[in-house]
Amino acid sequence: MMLVAFRIAILAASSVVPRDRAAWRRAWTAEIRHYATLLHARGMRNRYVRIRTWHHFIGAMRDAGRLFSQTPAAIQFRAALRTPAFCLGLIALGLTAMAAASHGFAITRSMLAPPYPDARRLVLISQGGVLQNQRHTIPPPLLDFWKTHNTTLAGLAGYQWNTRGTAWVTPDFFAVLGARPRCFLLRRIHDWRPLANQPDMGNALGVIGRLKPGVDAANAQTELRGLAARYRGDRQSSASGDVQVMPLVNRIRQPFYAYAGLCAVPAVLLLAGACIGVRSEHRRLGRIRGRYWAFYCAKAISLPVALALAIWEFSRATSFTPAGSATFVAKPFFIWLVILACGAIVWWCLADQRARCRACLRTLQYPVRIGSLGAVLFDHAGMELMCCQGHGALYLPAVSSDYVQPGGWTALDAEDITSEPVHGGRA
Ligand SMILES: [Zn+2]
Repeated sequence: MMLVAFRIAILAASSVVPRDRAAWRRAWTAEIRHYATLLHARGMRNRYVRIRTWHHFIGAMRDAGRLFSQTPAAIQFRAALRTPAFCLGLIALGLTAMAAASHGFAITRSMLAPPYPDARRLVLISQGGVLQNQRHTIPPPLLDFWKTHNTTLAGLAGYQWNTRGTAWVTPDFFAVLGARPRCFLLRRIHDWRPLANQPDMGNALGVIGRLKPGVDAANAQTELRGLAARYRGDRQSSASGDVQVMPLVNRIRQPFYAYAGLCAVPAVLLLAGACIGVRSEHRRLGRIRGRYWAFYCAKAISLPVALALAIWEFSRATSFTPAGSATFVAKPFFIWLVILACGAIVWWCLADQRARCRACLRTLQYPVRIGSLGAVLFDHAGMELMCCQGHGALYLPAVSSDYVQPGGWTALDAEDITSEPVHGGRA
């Protein structure tokens, strides 16, 4: 059974072998079968035979890979991997995939431009808890009391949702919101239902209000607190936390500003590095390698942007409870991860840029180790890399304080190298 599976795999692998496919296939199939027969004949245990046959099979796959890697197509592909266009193309592909997976960055767009008419007047109303940042939902009788007695709000409505994207709302909800959105409080809602059909959901509600023109959230908060105290006084109910009124736009933009600030740090650091690099290059050479620095800046900006978009669209950083507090319990750990990712972006941008040709921006090749670290006191030790187009060589000292030979780029006369006639195909 296993031999049949190996034969099929070898048949598939032979399709990438450049020439004499049938002979290659026969040779490897015969090899594996012969080996299995031989071990069986010697009376080896079945498990041992199986392991040894696997070993031969992996050898066949590696041989196919080695033969394929020597074909012109594979060589061209590897050369394409080293170009700057491939690097930028990969970043662009990642951004496109993110746009497709997130419905065109729907959450980011609704943070920047909430899809409600006159969204500045919308407020979230909640009750404070024991902790400073806690927000709790409102009991429906209090909501009804506010509706009848308040003077600062043009409308008040309650809502509740579940994790599967179904929301239950009071009848005036869409009138207060001014729209029937597909996304509310950065949460996708597939199904809007009236709250009356769902009595058990209605014992605590998230509350949204629309301020009257010219009234601000502080005025409304003072009035609603007064009304809540009156409501509790009438019913002798136990006091809970103070009522909080917060503009909806401010609340949904909080994760936007927080993570935009965090992801801007690597971009700013990298761009500052570019400024220093450009200035010192101008002083040294009297000119600026425009393409080299443009490529660096493109990476320095696009990668932090991609990170920020990934956080907003695909993490729980933008998820709220109905009362408007964050649901994200792992926040400190997550911020630590984001800081690590920012560090990785800075490190990779610098490392990738350093190992690129100053003229054609391809990744340098042919690493040659020079000297040894043990003799670094009297001699230099490091790594030399070459551009495959012959534009120059880069010397990277093994220790940054190498005084015998400092590292750096040596431009070579590429015209002289590449203008020589090359005989005998690929060289
Ligand atoms: Zn080059």
